[in-house]
Order: sequence, then C-alpha cells, then structure tokens
Amino acid sequence: MRKEGVTAYVALGANLGDAAAAVGQAMDAIGRLADTKVTRRSSLYRTAPIDAGGPDYINAVVEVSTALPAPLLLEQLQSLEHGAGRERSYRNAPRTLDLDLLLYGDAQLQSPALTIPHPRMAARAFVLVPLAEIAPQRVSAAQLRHVSAQAIQRL
Ligand code: ADP
Ligand code: MG
Repeated sequence: MRKEGVTAYVALGANLGDAAAAVGQAMDAIGRLADTKVTRRSSLYRTAPIDAGGPDYINAVVEVSTALPAPLLLEQLQSLEHGAGRERSYRNAPRTLDLDLLLYGDAQLQSPALTIPHPRMAARAFVLVPLAEIAPQRVSAAQLRHVSAQAIQRL
C-alpha cells in the first residue's frame, strides 16, 4: 500500500455466540482489507448492553493505516459485518459483529450514511476507553469523565 496512509480508528463490538472470538477474527479480517493494515489493537473489554437486553458485549478498538477513502472503508467494514451474520432486526439488537468507523485522520464528514467523528462515540465508554488505551491523544480526560459511570471491564 502507499506509505501515506490515513490513520483511522475502528470500534468493534459483539454480543452473540463466542463474542471474543468474533472480535479477534474481525481484527484479523480488517488487517486483510485492501490497502489497509492494523497498526494497533486495544485489549478486549466486557460491557453490559446499553438500552437493550441480551448478553454482555465484548468491545475493542483498532488503529489502521489505510489508503481506502472513508466511504469505501466503511463499505468494507459493513461487508465484514454481514459476513459475520449480523442481522439488523431492530435498533440495539444483539449482534454478532458491529464495526463503527470512529475517526479517519482529522476528517469531519456529515451524511446519514457516514458521519465522522462517529456521532455517538462521545457517549460510550465502550468506545472511549479502548480508544484511549491505543490513542490517548485522541481522547480527553473530560470525555473519559463524562462516561465514567458506565461499567467496563478490561479482560
Ligand atoms: P450503532 O453502531 O450506532 O449502534 P448501527 O451500526 O446499527 O448503529 O448503525 C449503522 C448505520 O450508521 C449505517 O447505516 C451506517 O451507514 C451509519 N453510519 C454513519 N456514520 C457511521 C460511522 N462513522 N461508522 C459506522 N456507521 C456509520
Ligand atoms: Mg455500527
């Protein structure tokens, strides 16, 4: 791939079946996407579902260096979600794999199909805590304080 890849961050979550295995396999699969390599992986974290029932989630964040434009990267991530058998039955439904594009360099994009930074990341400990582990410069202390009431366990 080109050397001038963009540094982007992808959040992974799963709460059906062997969720830890699904997240690990998804990290590997992201590293196999065209013109994309995984440069950092957070630890795995366990969190309770927000606004929904079902088993606990396993969450993580990876840093990638990619030459794919952001919409194409999202499309590739969505095809990995579908490959993992995700069903979008209803909002916040349990899922085998959820992949969210959090940050793409310093890009700011705003369309329903792709908003960057991810519009809900600031409210979610399961995104901010693993992101802060691998990219502390991208998460402020104030942001972490804001989600500090949400239980999250590092595995
Ligand atoms: P969430 O991940 O917030 O629980 P979903 O995964 O169900 O919700 O939402 C997916 C939808 O959000 C898709 O239609 C996708 O196009 C849109 N979307 C907008 N911005 C982003 C982003 N930065 N990352 C992932 N999906 C996004
Ligand atoms: Mg998503």
